[in-house]
Amino acid sequence: MDLKNAIIDLMPGRLVRIFASPYTAGKGISSGVGKAGELHTQLGLSSTLDLLGEEVFLREDVEATVQVYFRMIEAVKDRPYASISLKPTQLGINESEAYCQDNLRRIVAAAAPHGLHITLDMEDRHFTDVTLRMFKAIRDEFDNFGIVLQSRLFRTAEDIKALHTKPCKVRICIGIYKEPVEVALQDKADMKAKLFDYVQLLLDHGHYPEIATHDEPLIRRCIEHLDKHAVPKDAYEFQMLLGVPRTDLQQEIVKRGQIMRLYLPFAEDWKYAVHYLKRRLAANPAMVGMVLKNLFGS
Ligand SMILES: Cc1cc2nc3c(=O)[nH]c(=O)nc-3n(C[C@H](O)[C@H](O)[C@H](O)COP(=O)(O)OP(=O)(O)OC[C@H]3O[C@@H](n4cnc5c(N)ncnc54)[C@H](O)[C@@H]3O)c2cc1C
Repeated sequence: MDLKNAIIDLMPGRLVRIFASPYTAGKGISSGVGKAGELHTQLGLSSTLDLLGEEVFLREDVEATVQVYFRMIEAVKDRPYASISLKPTQLGINESEAYCQDNLRRIVAAAAPHGLHITLDMEDRHFTDVTLRMFKAIRDEFDNFGIVLQSRLFRTAEDIKALHTKPCKVRICIGIYKEPVEVALQDKADMKAKLFDYVQLLLDHGHYPEIATHDEPLIRRCIEHLDKHAVPKDAYEFQMLLGVPRTDLQQEIVKRGQIMRLYLPFAEDWKYAVHYLKRRLAANPAMVGMVLKNLFGS
């Protein structure tokens, strides 16, 4: 573990919240929904709202999470610019696949009559198979359900080919979890080259790629390729995380008439938010300086 990651790992939750505040909409559904409305009205951006939380173990906490998602559905069901994202580890996968699948199904079913899209985030490699199985089973029944695939994993090309016979919305990203050499690429440039290839592979299989990256040259390469092949602008979209400074590029995409969606996490209970926030801090190249400056006043 390098110095930056070691410092972030040791940071107390309160400090994490302060450093990570640009990456979250705040506390409570109303902050998430309020931020989504603001981004849409002022900047033409779409959002995917996410309740911060993973590593939820107790049944009562899992059920509380399901109830928050029900309330989120009520709060955004009339906002076509909003979707919802969620994670297996907040919905009972630590107890059993059947329990988690049932919880996911309840949420997707509640969103379906409103045409509200739900995306199943992808966590580390231990969850890839089970996440894909649950996704496919629920996708059989509902159209408003999408998934995430990670270009760093060697398996992803096969996962795309075997995804589903129905068209799916698939967020394609490099993947935030460090994975071992046996199963994943180690070099970011290689992961990004694969991400580019998988955009086309997804289109070839009739799916809708959600291109999730902040890498400007990669985004420009995708745009050029998609334009050159006259791919309709409603056949794909771009996604970024709230808090990563890319305003000009986002506006350029919006002006092209394309969907530019931000991932908008909010917290109900900060204790469940800390893992996500630490990962975002670790991905920020400016963090070493910021952490040291704030910790040691240098
Ligand atoms: C909408 C969305 C949803 C995602 N969902 C998942 C998921 O379900 N599962 C999963 O494993 N991963 C997910 N990710 C994370 C993704 O896999 C990458 O880890 C993340 O996007 C960084 O990769 P990058 O392609 O932007 O390239 P990078 O090379 O990491 O970033 C490119 C540049 O963006 C800037 N940047 C990136 N991150 C930060 C940051 N935190 N703070 C400040 N600047 C930053 C830096 O300037 C950096 O040089 C998601 C990403 C997005 C955008």
